[in-house]
Amino acid sequence: MKEKFQGILKITGNLLRLQIFFILFICLNIHSASYFEINKNGKVDSLQIENLEGIEYVDLNILVNLLNGKIKFKKVQEEITVETDKNYAILLINSPFVKVGGNTYKISYTPILKEQQIFFPVKSIKQLFEKLLPEETVFLDYTIKYFEKLSLKKIKENETSITLIFNKIPKTSYELTQRDIILFFKDCFINEDSFRIKNSKNLIRVAQPINDEDGSTYIITFSPEFLFDTLLLFQDSIRLNFIKFKKSNNVSQPQTIKTIIIDAGHGGKDPGAIGYNGTKEKNLNLDIALRLRDKLKNNLSGINVVLTRSDDRFLSLKDRTNFANKYKNSLFVSIHCNASKNKEAKGFETYFLSTAKTDWERAVEARENASVTFDLPETEKKGIDFIFFDLAQNEFLEESSRLAELVQIRFEKKYKGGERGVRQAGFYVLKGNFMPAILVECGYISNKDEEKMLKNKGYRDELAQLIFEGIRDFIKEHEKKVTK
Ligand SMILES: [Zn+2]
Repeated sequence: MKEKFQGILKITGNLLRLQIFFILFICLNIHSASYFEINKNGKVDSLQIENLEGIEYVDLNILVNLLNGKIKFKKVQEEITVETDKNYAILLINSPFVKVGGNTYKISYTPILKEQQIFFPVKSIKQLFEKLLPEETVFLDYTIKYFEKLSLKKIKENETSITLIFNKIPKTSYELTQRDIILFFKDCFINEDSFRIKNSKNLIRVAQPINDEDGSTYIITFSPEFLFDTLLLFQDSIRLNFIKFKKSNNVSQPQTIKTIIIDAGHGGKDPGAIGYNGTKEKNLNLDIALRLRDKLKNNLSGINVVLTRSDDRFLSLKDRTNFANKYKNSLFVSIHCNASKNKEAKGFETYFLSTAKTDWERAVEARENASVTFDLPETEKKGIDFIFFDLAQNEFLEESSRLAELVQIRFEKKYKGGERGVRQAGFYVLKGNFMPAILVECGYISNKDEEKMLKNKGYRDELAQLIFEGIRDFIKEHEKKVTK
């Protein structure tokens, strides 16, 4: 009776253990891989992972060989020596203690011996090998990645340029924010100490290197007195050219506005946005632009009013900016209608040029600038010209922003509830213009109701009237500054 009872207990116990094991197995499987990889600049070697009682292991002999190290095993002492170019380590079977150089460390999981093979736990690979491999090695969960080591030999600064001299130049991309240049070196590792600059009074104020699993990022913050101009890549160096920023007291006195340039967005083969019921943005833009021209001509004496296009023709963005730049002391007003995937979106937006953007503004900008791809030569798609114009516009930023505000105020007074505000964006069409410049989005044709309204002549005339009033308000204000 007693024996029988014990027997039942035993069976239950085994079943229970089996169940626990099964659950554990499922859980581990979610976060596990069957191979451990070693990625040397794109060349990948794989190593089989053995799952032993819920812990993942790799064969240490193979791992060390793939990492170009040497391994020795003293059977009696169960002592393993792993040697690399950088250092050596002594480990013991079933012991969490590791000696590297003269120091002892503890690792989370222990090496084990199974059928004369040494198995090393995947979860402790980083703990051990980060001490044995060069610093440009990156450890991911199931991968060791060898990065190219990039060292900065020298930084040369002169009045308006910085040259960063490296051991070699890897694949580089960059991004620009208002005061930073962010360089990204793919699959590279940069030495953080040699690249770091703190609180300098020079052109580079701060420079911060960050290494991560994709490569290294180098954030350079430059002095606010400078505008970034161009980035040049050479064999072993990167040169950043700057323009010394004109401070506001150097800015020329406001001049009387002589010309108003009206730009009807899109045209010809570029229809712009397509409405809920198929209305083409280009046609609405042109109609509003023509109405605006008439109002300006009839009401503002002594000001020349010109249109970038007065019929349905394609104009490249470059054509538009070249046209605008022929007129000195002018205002530039680009007319558009908006569209969004969100069919509920509605209202007016007035943009002026700036480098600071929200995600929303980036999305609009991307769509309006889509026509860039119709006509820009390859060299100009790379961004250097964009950036140059972008920042040269700074001088007119304040005026552009005021013009945008005055137009937007008119819209919002008239149509309550459709307020979307003044926004900043780096529209290409505005970028070549060294003049107060805005872009007006006269509502959403992707919105069924707004499209319907925009198809109405009277409504379009009202919109032209509001833009006209905004421009008139701006000119009045501006003229006061001129006569001072
Ligand atoms: Zn448009």
